[in-house]
Amino acid sequence: MACLDPLRLASRVESEVYEPDGRARKYWRIRASRHYGGNVAGDVVGCNLRCAFCWAWRYAFNARPGFYLTPREAAARIARAGPYRLARLTGGEPTIGWPHTRALADMLVGRGYEFVLETNGLLIGSDRIDPGEIPRGMFVRISVKAPSKESFEKVTGACGWAWDLQVRALEKLLEAGFEPGRDFRAAVVLGVAPEREYSLFFEKLAGIDARLVETMEPEYIVLYRHVVELMSRRGFKPYLALTPDGGVVRRGSR
Ligand code: SF4
Repeated sequence: MACLDPLRLASRVESEVYEPDGRARKYWRIRASRHYGGNVAGDVVGCNLRCAFCWAWRYAFNARPGFYLTPREAAARIARAGPYRLARLTGGEPTIGWPHTRALADMLVGRGYEFVLETNGLLIGSDRIDPGEIPRGMFVRISVKAPSKESFEKVTGACGWAWDLQVRALEKLLEAGFEPGRDFRAAVVLGVAPEREYSLFFEKLAGIDARLVETMEPEYIVLYRHVVELMSRRGFKPYLALTPDGGVVRRGSR
């Protein structure tokens, strides 16, 4: 099967989930969540990857569901959804429709919120988003989907060259003066490749800046029923995953 170009896909998805007049963007849910000690999460529609383990695939792969919110409307919904002063935008891909996300972050940070952007980083790595446009006070969590080009292509459906954009995004944030742990971090999805690939990848990251490894966050595949359904359709078997109640499953142990 031919690999997909995630930059072209981002442009197409943007035309389906973002309205430049009013900077309105499509969401499928706004909810209080327990992550980070309690926060309000905006789940956006549409993504430019097709990860075989995506927990949000019904909305990330399909731009039809959802509802539009302007930045002001999204800020109001976030304020109503919970008492937390930490907000995050998450999957789908929140850098698609970037003017919306930037305006929302400006609004919320201006009101004293902490704001976390959970992104695959491709548009930052590709020069479509300059780190200088990232509002100060926004914490950027770049979720690296695989430890190598080869495994990236296998699990995301995107061409292997796009893996470099994930790494490039981390480099660009460093070059722009963002500090690992304080302003951003790499979150690395575990279990998509053998351990030796991860060792090589962590060495590569340490060669860029040791703080990328020190502050790295592991991300686990969780075997929710709908995730298992997707993985089985894609013929993907993780090397390591968690059950929804936190049990560890290794390849071959089931
Ligand atoms: S980048 Fe995230 S939202 Fe997009 S397909 Fe992968 S796991 Fe799903």
